[in-house]
Amino acid sequence: MAVARSPRFSGPSDLHLHSNHSDGTETPAEVVRQASAHGVRTLALTDHDRTTGWDDAAHAATSLGMTFIPGMELSAKHEWRSVHVLGYLFDANDDALRAETDRIRDDRIGRAERIVRSIGRDYDLVWEDVVAQTALDATVGRPHIADALVARGIVRDRSEAFDGILHPREGYYEPHYAPDPLTAVRLIADAGGVAIIAHPVTAGRDRMLPVPYIEALVEAGLGGFEIDHRENTEAGKRTLRALAARHDLIVTGSSDYHGSGKPNLPGENTTTDEMVARLIDRATGSAPTYA
Ligand code: AMP
Ligand code: FE
Ligand code: FE
Ligand code: ZN
Repeated sequence: MAVARSPRFSGPSDLHLHSNHSDGTETPAEVVRQASAHGVRTLALTDHDRTTGWDDAAHAATSLGMTFIPGMELSAKHEWRSVHVLGYLFDANDDALRAETDRIRDDRIGRAERIVRSIGRDYDLVWEDVVAQTALDATVGRPHIADALVARGIVRDRSEAFDGILHPREGYYEPHYAPDPLTAVRLIADAGGVAIIAHPVTAGRDRMLPVPYIEALVEAGLGGFEIDHRENTEAGKRTLRALAARHDLIVTGSSDYHGSGKPNLPGENTTTDEMVARLIDRATGSAPTYA
């Protein structure tokens, strides 16, 4: 195993947080301040399918003496499973990756409109309600529809919306375009980044990808797994740790903070210094911002 080049960052490190550039409720700078207030020293901003929050987050992090690692959570899917692939330290100007994230975000808009039209047949909800809950140009998703349902007084919070109206069983759900995970991993790796499967073993919701498929992802350049995440099952974590050891992969731990949109708090799970160093050493697409 490679010995890390003198790490200039310090832990605790939280490598998965969202701002209002996707479905978090706070600006990138606020996210950084919250992370700092919770004792985090190194953080990655990982908005869904976009990188526009990087600059503000990097500035805020530097001013607080923190290390900033640029990231993104790329939407993918395998058969019926929604798979989220975290990308770190890639080149944000990579043409192929940009084209794919543009396509995903574009399709998410039409998809969200279709969901709202469908819900609007049974509840008092219109597209403008969702627009009012979405920061300019943010990657739109079901969380924004949830916020609109809250604003209309139809549900109490995002959780109630996801357990009810937004759950696929209620019949309003629509999928959006997303590449398969192999494509997602290759795009991130080809852009010089490190690809890590986000929350790979959640209960019920998505279930784990088949091991042979995960091994194909490793062949394609997968860097590792996000293991310490509140939604991963304990049995799943054990399986993933064994798989990571067998293939000498990076393992991370993160909060998946979404501001007030989820109960997750910055720093509730963290990544070891050794693993952060491996992530930084492996990447060639961009660099952390050090204080
Ligand atoms: P979408 O990609 O539009 O289908 O929405 C999925 C997003 O909803 C994920 O990125 C999660 O952050 C968020 N989400 C999923 N379940 C919940 C929940 N129970 N409460 C709040 N947010 C959720
Ligand atoms: Fe999210
Ligand atoms: Fe996710
Ligand atoms: Zn996330």
